[in-house]
Amino acid sequence: MNIKQHIQNLRNELREHNYNYYVLDNPAISDYDFDIKLKELQELEAKYPEFFDANSPTQRVGGEVTKNFETIAHEHRMYSLDNSYSKEDLQDWEIRIKKLVDGGIQYTCELKYDGASISLTYENGLLVKAVTRGDGFQGDNVTANVKTIKSVPLQLKGDYPPKFDIRGEIVLPFDGFNKMNEERIELGEEPYRNPRNTASGSLKLQDSAEVAKRPLECLLYNLTGSNLGIQTQFESLVKAREWGFKVPDTAKLASSIDEVFEFINYWNVHRHDLPYETDGVVVKVNNLQQQEELGHTAKAPRWAMAYKFKAEQVSTQLNSITYQVGRTGAITPVANLEPVELAGTTVKRASLHNADQIEKLDIRVGDEVFVEKGGEIIPKIIAVDFTKRKPDAGPTQYITHCPECNTLLERLEGEAKHFCPNYNGCNPQIIGRIQHYISRKAMDIDGLGGETVALLVNEGLINNYSDLYELTKEQVMPLERMAEKSAENLVAGIEASKQIPFERVLFALGIRFVGETVAKKLAKHYKSIDAIAIASEEDLVNVDEIGIKIAQSVTAFFKDEKNVLILNRLKQFGVQLEISANQLIGQTNILKGQSIVVTGVFESISRNDLKKLIEDNGGKISSSISSKTSYIIAGANMGPSKKDKAENLNISIINEHEFLQKLN
Ligand SMILES: [Zn+2]
Repeated sequence: MNIKQHIQNLRNELREHNYNYYVLDNPAISDYDFDIKLKELQELEAKYPEFFDANSPTQRVGGEVTKNFETIAHEHRMYSLDNSYSKEDLQDWEIRIKKLVDGGIQYTCELKYDGASISLTYENGLLVKAVTRGDGFQGDNVTANVKTIKSVPLQLKGDYPPKFDIRGEIVLPFDGFNKMNEERIELGEEPYRNPRNTASGSLKLQDSAEVAKRPLECLLYNLTGSNLGIQTQFESLVKAREWGFKVPDTAKLASSIDEVFEFINYWNVHRHDLPYETDGVVVKVNNLQQQEELGHTAKAPRWAMAYKFKAEQVSTQLNSITYQVGRTGAITPVANLEPVELAGTTVKRASLHNADQIEKLDIRVGDEVFVEKGGEIIPKIIAVDFTKRKPDAGPTQYITHCPECNTLLERLEGEAKHFCPNYNGCNPQIIGRIQHYISRKAMDIDGLGGETVALLVNEGLINNYSDLYELTKEQVMPLERMAEKSAENLVAGIEASKQIPFERVLFALGIRFVGETVAKKLAKHYKSIDAIAIASEEDLVNVDEIGIKIAQSVTAFFKDEKNVLILNRLKQFGVQLEISANQLIGQTNILKGQSIVVTGVFESISRNDLKKLIEDNGGKISSSISSKTSYIIAGANMGPSKKDKAENLNISIINEHEFLQKLN
């Protein structure tokens, strides 16, 4: 078969599978088979770059980096909607619009999803741009990021009009949101507060490959354009669905405000069963001719009205405030409430965040408080019912000492949280730090879980991560839920962690502000723990991307004699505390001073390996092309805009083979 045709067939097939999986939620092949086909297409596209297509399913993996998002004017303004909060509000609206149009009015009722608004432009069935709402007149061009969202069709099917805009909402389903947070918590990072902000933050990430990893979805609800050949809003939803868009099928037609209210009442209860956040219902005049007659006010269309669900709120009594100590010693106050039903779950606790929040609410034990479950997963206390305050309720005194180890708490300038400075003697910090040490992205110790760590600490078997290396099978076996086999696995897992490379060990140590990326930078620059230990703050801030906050934290860590003792023990046990000879092989300064851009898909080497080669040889990787770029290493599928830019700036473009020759 002709190659071009074969590539085309594969693309069509993958598109259909994507549609079945992400839009219809009804996959027709296994993930594995899908990956095989995708890989085949990737290889063919790399081999035959002349058949490049910006809308190929391979383009969904991302990789394009945007430093500054271009501002684009909306061809059709993105209006906001007027809000209503009661049946009376809606009835008033109906009276107003009935004066302006003739004939009966039908309404479409649609759920209002809580996410980031987006406008997609299609020309000849192809996605050409995706722009955020912005101020309604203009927004940011986030096309590269939106392309990675699998439910956004890159190519339409059926009888679509030649050119139109479609508006919708980019949302993060609860499931995906919770999974992302579990991973963050495992890494000791602050969890995201709510799906909506996380979704809109995702659209503005610079690296589209990062966006591709997030389980975002795009729900569409509004067609805009001229000569679309459509008579009603409801019909436009049906059509958009036929063209391949993910259009929720919850929309309903209503012939009166009473029927609209039936829809509202139903979803006010059942919205909690949906996989996404909804905050209301949007009611639109169904007939597009009538919509046009009604027109817009300065701010909003007259033909639509949003009805906001009341935030789920209850009042209950605050029984006590307790304080939790995190891995880094940060203190979080927690409100313990008289259990109460809220949005289908029983709420017993709510976060109070920090001392300022307590002061702002003027919350006191015994108070009747209002608890709300809004966008956040964790309920929050929004106010105190002062009319019910008991006369003997004294102001809340924030704790001065650690609830776990009784050390005087500290609060650093500019930080919201107090923290316990008893780094090596405070139980939750000890346990949390060892849990971080063994976690997947750190030492990745098989056979040892977070609960076992707590057990080992509480039984007095370990007190810091260096103690792990002296654990024996015999010590571990008597522990709860341990058997001979699991004890053996645990000890073997710990032994195996001695092979983990230095940069990950450095991250595993849990030095404040030293995350994965910083650990890599430090490891690469200093090459051993000893060299980092003697570096001064001034030395450290001279390293690329190391700021004063990190530098201070690093020097403080090595000033602590206990840490030095622990490190010495790790060294004795054979944990990698310097870059191994293997890692040093192949490191040169050949590319020193060169700024290199890597783009496209490579045949003989992975993108990451290529980047590593550049860094290992002293070069700097830059994400965008500028006059400072030394040259570009381009694989297949280099974007046309990048190509133009390189040509304009007269920057040479080489392929990976030419680059490897350069190195040799
Ligand atoms: Zn403490």
